[in-house]
Amino acid sequence: MTTEQINHHLTDDLLMAYSAGSLPEAFSLVVATHISLCDECRARLGSFDTVGGAMLETCGDAEMSAGALDATMARIMKGAPVQKPRSSGGVFPTPLQNYIGGDLDAVKWRPVGMGVRQAILPTSDDASVRLLYIPAGCAVPDHGHRGTELTLVLQGAFVDEDGRFARGDVEVANEELEHTPVADIGEDCICLAATDAPLKFRGLVPRLAQPFLKI
Ligand code: ZN
Ligand code: ZN
Repeated sequence: MTTEQINHHLTDDLLMAYSAGSLPEAFSLVVATHISLCDECRARLGSFDTVGGAMLETCGDAEMSAGALDATMARIMKGAPVQKPRSSGGVFPTPLQNYIGGDLDAVKWRPVGMGVRQAILPTSDDASVRLLYIPAGCAVPDHGHRGTELTLVLQGAFVDEDGRFARGDVEVANEELEHTPVADIGEDCICLAATDAPLKFRGLVPRLAQPFLKI
């Protein structure tokens, strides 16, 4: 796999929180997967890791809080994404393959309506993460957000009110964005999407289905 042409990146807030080990597991998975595809965000993360490390050194052992120690340990434990990633040779980058235990053929899809399928991945329950399969030319129902939604494209592309997102691009959506992602014609779109609060669907039917789909 060659270097991706990535136009949409992670925010500094997310990279700092990831560096400090304070993101929910669901968000960490999206961040780690984006970083494995993106030289730019990996370099920015490296500088946050350095700043975090320097702050710990000046604190001294006696003054280091339990929280800071936990964050440091978390960073050491997950260290791998900062290194130059190896190509996984599949649709899923290495961190995601490791998490799922395989590539695309290991995924158990469930229909969510209008041709869209999802697979919820098990994580700690402070946030949730799922794989979304949007057939070429199809749309995810129009919705807003109560919290933060991270959507990373793994195959194909989608277009919404914020632009066009292709493999490696990540969309950071919050309360201010209401969007209707539509997959490009020509290739089915596969995304990894994490949310920390339920979405707000405008249409009645998606709203009624929401509790069953855990979106
Ligand atoms: Zn990036
Ligand atoms: Zn959304």
